[in-house]
Amino acid sequence: MKKEFGDMPTEDFRKYGYEVVDWIANYFEHIDEFPVLAKVDPNWLKDNLPQSAPEKGEDFGGVLADVDRLILPSVTHWNHPNFHGLFATSTSSVGVFGEMLAAAFDMKAMLWRTSPVSTELEDVVLDWLRQMMALPDHFEGIIYDTASVSTMHAIAAGRGRAGFHIRDEGMSGRDDLPLLRVYASEHVHSSIDKGLITLGLGLRSLRKIECNDRFEMLPERLTEAIEEDIENGFVPICVIPTVGTTSTSSVDPVDAIADICEKYGIWLHVDTAYAGSTAIVPEFRQFFKGWERADSIVVNPHKWLFTPFDLSVLFCKNLNDLKGAFSLVAEYLKTTDEPAVKNGMDYGVQLGRRFRALKLWFVIRYFGVEGMQARLREHCRLARLFASWVEESENWEMLAPVPFALVCFRACVSSPHVSKGSKQDEDKLNQINENIMNEINSSGDAYLSHTKLNGKFTLRLSVGSIRVEERHLHKVWELLNQQLAVQLGQK
Ligand code: PLP
Repeated sequence: MKKEFGDMPTEDFRKYGYEVVDWIANYFEHIDEFPVLAKVDPNWLKDNLPQSAPEKGEDFGGVLADVDRLILPSVTHWNHPNFHGLFATSTSSVGVFGEMLAAAFDMKAMLWRTSPVSTELEDVVLDWLRQMMALPDHFEGIIYDTASVSTMHAIAAGRGRAGFHIRDEGMSGRDDLPLLRVYASEHVHSSIDKGLITLGLGLRSLRKIECNDRFEMLPERLTEAIEEDIENGFVPICVIPTVGTTSTSSVDPVDAIADICEKYGIWLHVDTAYAGSTAIVPEFRQFFKGWERADSIVVNPHKWLFTPFDLSVLFCKNLNDLKGAFSLVAEYLKTTDEPAVKNGMDYGVQLGRRFRALKLWFVIRYFGVEGMQARLREHCRLARLFASWVEESENWEMLAPVPFALVCFRACVSSPHVSKGSKQDEDKLNQINENIMNEINSSGDAYLSHTKLNGKFTLRLSVGSIRVEERHLHKVWELLNQQLAVQLGQK
């Protein structure tokens, strides 16, 4: 029975709570049966929902029934094992427990005093992660929501180190401010561009550096760009190599780039939002050579450590650089606890911060380091297996190396009547590959995404769902070949 005041009665909470957990368990158990991409037209959900809020509270059983009726059809199932688009990321069920409890505590981890547990568990669990990734012990981490936000904070700290008192004086109305430059490869994630927009540096400050044919930044081009900029009176403030770029998962040569940053005194921020998780697996550490020399590193456990979105970690060589950029303590937030404690609000834009460390703590404790390593190794094995099918087939070709678990490939037969490599052939291949992707995606059987590499429409298959098995890769391979036959008019 609903009460006039106060919360849902405990007996109702218990009853519906069990129902929700059952619902989630069934959802995970039958996740394969859903179409990966929601099969609804735009506005279907909006058209099926009342335009205004109910005047009187509703029975929660009815609300839950609407989850099946209205919410579920509009869900794109990121947890589906055949979600291979973008980067395949998914939650473990134990991660869901972390979210449930964090929601129950509902703490705002701004100050140590408002949330000792969140502050201290975050320190402990990030130090576990640091050790798992074999990063030196001077790195200290802080949790943000996304890599976009982590990187934006890192650039702000790099800008702070360069001087110019921008924190206090701002950037507008000043004629003493040269152009400040940030460097990244031409394959850098768009979050860097957006970070620069947000910080008022503007897109003009981003200089994109050419890559080799493996899509890796060329350090000699970086040096040339920096020297040219310095000659023109510009000031380099930050270089952002990526380990695991978004288009192809290519690996910029961090060690060589670290030499350059050291020489010119530039902040080095490593974006390894996607691939950073694999640093917990010893044989993948070769890809991270030199990252221990970085000023900051971003890695997203919400991408590939089975932790529900959102949880991004920014590791800093000296967290005080972030504090210098962002600490600002209003009167009503002053306590007598400093300097013995760390206050999360000092390290970024947000005041209140979610208790995100709990879910990562659950995930690491439940799977253990070995369990997580085994899963990452298996995903990389499956991606290499898929790549071997592509390599062995005459109808398909690889378009990028596979250092982790992303395969970039395309169908390479267009028509026997068109000469191979001609413009006509390339245009036709682009169309065929795009059609194949669209047909598979609209079938709901799997989800692939794409990129463009050297003008070629490139299919991207990412393996990363905690629920993926070899049979799911066989299924996509079959779908791809069926669709290719359709496109070539053979079916
Ligand atoms: N950096 C890289 C290399 C990425 O691949 C992505 C997303 O895929 C991001 C940054 C942005 O991640 P987020 O959604 O956490 O902001």
